[in-house]
Amino acid sequence: MERIIGIDLGTTNSCVAIVEGGTPVVLPNKGGYKTTPSVVAISENGKRLVGHIAKRQSITNATNTVYASKRLIGRRWKSPAVRTMVETMPYTIVEGSNNDPRIKLRDRVYTVPEISSIILQEMKLISEEYTGEKIEKAVITVPAYFNDAQRQATKDAGRIAGLDVVRIINEPTAAALAYGFGREGDRTIAVYDLGGGTFDISVLSISNGVFEVLATAGDTFLGGEDFDGRIVMDWLVLEFAREHQIDLRRDKMALQRLRDAAEKAKCELSSARETEINLPFIISTGGSDALHLQKTLTRDRLEELTIDLVDRTVKICKKAVEEAGIGLKDIDDVILVGGQTRMPIVQAKVKEFFGKEPLKGVHPDEVVALGAAIQGMALMEDSQHVLLLDVTPHSLGIMIVGGFFSVLIPQNTTVPTSKSHIFTTVKDNQTSVKILVLQGESDRAEENELLGEFILTGLRPAPRGEVEIEVTFEINADGIVSVSAKDLETGQQQAITVTATSGLTEDEIKKMMQENQEYLVDMRRSEEVEKEKLTSRRTLQEIDKIFPKVRTVLEGSDFGQDAIRKAERVMEMARKAMEGNDHQALKTSNEALARTLNMFKGVVQKLG
Ligand code: AMP
Repeated sequence: MERIIGIDLGTTNSCVAIVEGGTPVVLPNKGGYKTTPSVVAISENGKRLVGHIAKRQSITNATNTVYASKRLIGRRWKSPAVRTMVETMPYTIVEGSNNDPRIKLRDRVYTVPEISSIILQEMKLISEEYTGEKIEKAVITVPAYFNDAQRQATKDAGRIAGLDVVRIINEPTAAALAYGFGREGDRTIAVYDLGGGTFDISVLSISNGVFEVLATAGDTFLGGEDFDGRIVMDWLVLEFAREHQIDLRRDKMALQRLRDAAEKAKCELSSARETEINLPFIISTGGSDALHLQKTLTRDRLEELTIDLVDRTVKICKKAVEEAGIGLKDIDDVILVGGQTRMPIVQAKVKEFFGKEPLKGVHPDEVVALGAAIQGMALMEDSQHVLLLDVTPHSLGIMIVGGFFSVLIPQNTTVPTSKSHIFTTVKDNQTSVKILVLQGESDRAEENELLGEFILTGLRPAPRGEVEIEVTFEINADGIVSVSAKDLETGQQQAITVTATSGLTEDEIKKMMQENQEYLVDMRRSEEVEKEKLTSRRTLQEIDKIFPKVRTVLEGSDFGQDAIRKAERVMEMARKAMEGNDHQALKTSNEALARTLNMFKGVVQKLG
């Protein structure tokens, strides 16, 4: 039978596992290591290097060595995450033709999925050498908080590596699978996953082989590398500048050495209380003169430099537990995943928050790959023993008129899932409608992330509100979204599998969001809009009735003439708002109308 491998494609390290004779095992690479650095490099003579070999030459070949590429995958060029990477990475990141970040190594530019595929290929090779068989199928893990574009890009990376990615699963869920595999009884667990680049927290219930994710939360830009960054930027670079008036950040090779030394010191401080950072010849000062860097880092100082990062993770844990709708005391076990959880302060804070000692039995670097392998086995056997019910980490919906976000699938809904909702047209004789698919938690469409767009054409020309359009969202087991829209009368349908909107520039996106006349009206919201319009009509009628009388009184004074002009402006604004469907604009103008009417009534009363 064809085997399915499980791959943990990490920011810092990657790991591959397989189930053998019913037991999941991690496969060692050629050097005997169970994890392989997620590092890719091109050597001076154009050779492709990956893993330990690539990491070892990273100092002498800093500009052609890529690490932490997972932080770039599926992101848009303009995203803040990419900006930070452009500024801090020793390798060159350029804008690609799809508005995606790409990586320049020697004389070639690579897409990010291409770089990831080189790591995946290595994982494939490790498994083929171990089993002596050709491996073509894999389950790959991603952070739970990865959005649709990031999942798609990871799947693409698999395809480029020659792998059929049978399933994408969330890292914390994979860890839970490894934990719960073969265990009896019902348990509720929390998986705290702090890796090199990302943080995830998931709360799950496990009952007779059914793994149900109750809630998940995280931050795709918070991980071990930020801890290293604090040592480098907030301490080593600053101290060096103070002592020598030299900015080490300008020298890419020095920066790479600092990073390596910082990471090493950080890891050592997980067991020692203090450690030496010793970097001779860190920078040349002209001719054969050079400066050296020698410092002692204590665990206390490291904790001071990074405590806010740890506190950020605790805040996110709080949110996840609330979302899960359970109390802290309902959590039976806390599992730590990711290398950064070896740091004592991280463990202490997790213990303090959950009120219990986290489990130490599971190997934080291997547990995710083991879980992926278990999922692979379950898919292969169509097993009834393991059922995975994961959730979507973001709310999904469409933009409706007025620039609002109408949610079809709320955050933390179990996937796979499908939801439909009926919308209607906003203009008379509207024959087409644009559907903007978004994900995020803001009520305003523009504040959420745009996943894609499509246009449904050929609607029957009819008065607004008459044509009904059913929009359906589907999320499959990989967490990948597809959307369709159907004219209920003609049966006309349009569908897309949502992929990254990388073909669009920010300006185009903004423009699309502004052209809101062509969008749909959510039936619920259109009722609210109609109510406001009715109020406007009635108030305007009342004002019109008494205006002639009020005018004669007010016209006599400067103050009165001002009041008349103001009232006319308010009425004009209300009439304009009534032409559109902006709920907020209507509400605001109704408030102003009510004030005007009150003032007018006061004047009439005084007249007797
Ligand atoms: P992962 O992505 O799970 O492989 O986690 C890698 C991250 O864990 C990197 O930032 C490492 O520096 C960090 N890490 C590994 N070992 C330790 C350790 N003993 N103490 C602190 N951090 C560690």
